Amino acid sequence: MQLPFTIDLKDKVVVITGAAGVICSHLSRAIAQCGAKVAILDRDEAKARQFADELNAEGYTAKGFEANVLIKDSLKKCREAVLKEFGKCDILINGAGGNNPKATTDNEYAELDDATKGIKTFFDLDQSGVEFVFNLNFIGTLLPTQVFSQDMVGREGCNILNISSMNAYTPLTKIPAYSGAKAAVSNFTQWLAVHFSHIGIRVNAIAPGFFSTKQNAQLLWNADGTPTQRTGKILAATPMGRFGEVDDLVGATLFLISSAAAGFVTGVCIPIDGGFSSYSGV
Ligand code: NAD
Repeated sequence: MQLPFTIDLKDKVVVITGAAGVICSHLSRAIAQCGAKVAILDRDEAKARQFADELNAEGYTAKGFEANVLIKDSLKKCREAVLKEFGKCDILINGAGGNNPKATTDNEYAELDDATKGIKTFFDLDQSGVEFVFNLNFIGTLLPTQVFSQDMVGREGCNILNISSMNAYTPLTKIPAYSGAKAAVSNFTQWLAVHFSHIGIRVNAIAPGFFSTKQNAQLLWNADGTPTQRTGKILAATPMGRFGEVDDLVGATLFLISSAAAGFVTGVCIPIDGGFSSYSGV
């Protein structure tokens, strides 16, 4: 991968959750290219190991670990394994997250005749689906932070990067749980930045705009591959007129995790959205 610039992560241990996924595998590779020892954490252990093998085969240093960001004991066990393999965590990227169809309404607006349409309305949203999405994004950021930031206390250059989203600024239609959960992630980023400011741990976030990945494929593309109405609306509301590419996330990530570049930056969330969050539509 061609990096936009490089930062010095030699001997740094970078722990990345959800690292076998679309976005975080890309960020993991970029971070590995900067010389870090990368701990690839994922609920899907086979995928994590396979991806780590790929990075090692490319000449980088990585290892796959099984970790469920919703289970503290799983994270604690993983921390022990990372300590043994690489040493203390210097940088944590909380990448595991996502939405779920059970927490998504079929329609953008409630209408008077909805009951006759056989659609999933706000009234039908499944509590367990809403809890799943809220937990995955918020609790799934908080628990790994509790576990891995213990390694950072009293050491130089340690920091945490969370992954928020456009819906944290203004909720997106249909996905109330995901929007609320990512708003909580942004809020937690600021809270933790303040809380950890006296012990030298920086905490920041990136808010990716619209990326076409498997997580949101159902919302963006019809079964026959044509764009949904939502895709048209997204592109019309993105001044730069395109979906993001995972490459677009690399520069802001490297900047924020670099103590040399961003040593006085904490509590920020950088939107990487082609202007979406700045545009009122008029
Ligand atoms: P993805 O589904 O490709 O990857 C998510 C990874 O997390 C998967 O490998 C999955 O196995 C893992 N995972 C899921 N539950 C887990 C758990 N309980 N414990 C550990 N690992 C778990 O998703 P992505 O599109 O790469 O998204 C990565 C992050 O970026 C998420 O936080 C997502 O909310 C956020 N984000 C994505 C977009 C987008 O357009 N794709 C936009 C904004 C923000």
